[in-house]
Amino acid sequence: MPVKDPSKVVPAAPAESAEAAMKHIVDGFLRFHTEVFPEQQELFKKLATAQKPRAMFITCADSRIVPELITQSSPGDLFVTRNVGNVVPPYGQMNGGVSSAIEYAVLALGVHHIIICGHSDCGAMRAVLNPHSLDKMPTVAAWLRHAEVARTVIEDNCSCGSEHESMQLLTKENVIAQLHHLRTHPSVASRLAAGQLHIHGWIYDIETSQIEAYDAASDRFLPLTAGESIPSATPRGRY
Ligand SMILES: [Zn+2]
Repeated sequence: MPVKDPSKVVPAAPAESAEAAMKHIVDGFLRFHTEVFPEQQELFKKLATAQKPRAMFITCADSRIVPELITQSSPGDLFVTRNVGNVVPPYGQMNGGVSSAIEYAVLALGVHHIIICGHSDCGAMRAVLNPHSLDKMPTVAAWLRHAEVARTVIEDNCSCGSEHESMQLLTKENVIAQLHHLRTHPSVASRLAAGQLHIHGWIYDIETSQIEAYDAASDRFLPLTAGESIPSATPRGRY
């Protein structure tokens, strides 16, 4: 299937100089420090010594995905972990940042929800479809092996007519695969069995801002809309 080489994707915005890029970031911080922070001083005082996030949010490192913006959350609300491809390595394969963040979120912070959020136009998913594009990026290639299961599922079961269709299906299958991986972590498995933890698989569309959520009961992705019950990937508790 024809796919774009992610190493050849041209940034959408005109390039700014390295110096201007850093100045923009520091100017932003100064505006935050002098204008935004004073208005929310009470909140930051409360957060200075403790956190009680509503949920853990695992998503892609992609700069276009801003969890706090798309969920209208405040500092302290979301325990966020980001990486290339919103991957969750299966338990025991890698004692890395994602696994330790999951354990900490569940056992130390006692979060009741974990959301895995993939997104449209994901460069990681494009690379999974086109592994040769990663020939000079061995670390990314090794990391994205955790998403290979999703490619196999669509290659064996779907006859996609276009790259767009392959990307949409792969992005969904990847979220389902990472939800499976999530359940191999003992802290997660135990709280799921006890009915104390809920897991969610989302796909965020950058162009439209729509979110589709995986519904385990119907084995489908359903749009997140107002007034209806929230689709959930949570298995039934046993204890
Ligand atoms: Zn991505």
